[in-house]
Amino acid sequence: MEKGITSEIKLKETVEKILKLPLNNRVFIETDMRAHLNPTRMKVIQAATLDLVQTINRRCLECGTPGMKYVRNNTGLICSACGLKTDNTLSITYECQRCHAIVDEMYPYGIKVSDPANCQWCNP
Ligand SMILES: [Zn+2]
Ligand SMILES: [Zn+2]
Repeated sequence: MEKGITSEIKLKETVEKILKLPLNNRVFIETDMRAHLNPTRMKVIQAATLDLVQTINRRCLECGTPGMKYVRNNTGLICSACGLKTDNTLSITYECQRCHAIVDEMYPYGIKVSDPANCQWCNP
């Protein structure tokens, strides 16, 4: 068994080597799911890590404890054309895991008005 094949050349060499072994006329190949060799898993782990870092960096304004926990997305970002509320995110609510203080982070994506394309009134 060969592990950690990371290039096409290595794959071809390995398959040819195994086929030359006595009594071997078949090669069984499977994806290496170990995290350090699997780009898909690396991306998922990276996203989870960034999420964790953001959570740790979010300190409670009341007691200073790091790690404010996500509670919910609040819709209602105002449409730039008609001024009505849309389904786009206006704020995100976080809760302190220690003192349970609640904080609404306004405009979490840095956008203060919604595109009329996302408005039920302007673009039904
Ligand atoms: Zn509108
Ligand atoms: Zn707190």
